[in-house]
Amino acid sequence: MAEDCIFCKIINGEFNTEFVYENEHLVVFKDIHPKAPIHLLVVPKIHAASLNELDDKNLLGELLLGVKEVTKKIGLNSYRTVINTGKEAGQEVFHLHIHVLGK
Ligand code: 5GP
Ligand code: ZN
Repeated sequence: MAEDCIFCKIINGEFNTEFVYENEHLVVFKDIHPKAPIHLLVVPKIHAASLNELDDKNLLGELLLGVKEVTKKIGLNSYRTVINTGKEAGQEVFHLHIHVLGK
């Protein structure tokens, strides 16, 4: 849990955000400003500012498995995944997340 991290607060339940999927490693919730008809964020429960700050191979694998599990759960077979790393690449929230975009 990092102070002033919006995603840590969401994970902590501070905003009563609905989780589309959750397991011991991660949560998945809807992006507040969707850029596609389906726009989910797959977010590790531990705080890592970006992909550059996470070296845990197991957790990195779990995040991709989480993408597969949530898309299977909602019946989404075709989707795009995006990870923005660093301000210049468009990262706005500095808690690692994988965007899942679909129709
Ligand atoms: P980034 O640009 O960091 O890759 O993406 C951050 C994403 O988080 C943006 O698409 C933005 O709409 C979303 N976002 C920012 N704040 C919140 C929030 O409080 N709740 C939710 N559900 N999404 C958020
Ligand atoms: Zn955080």
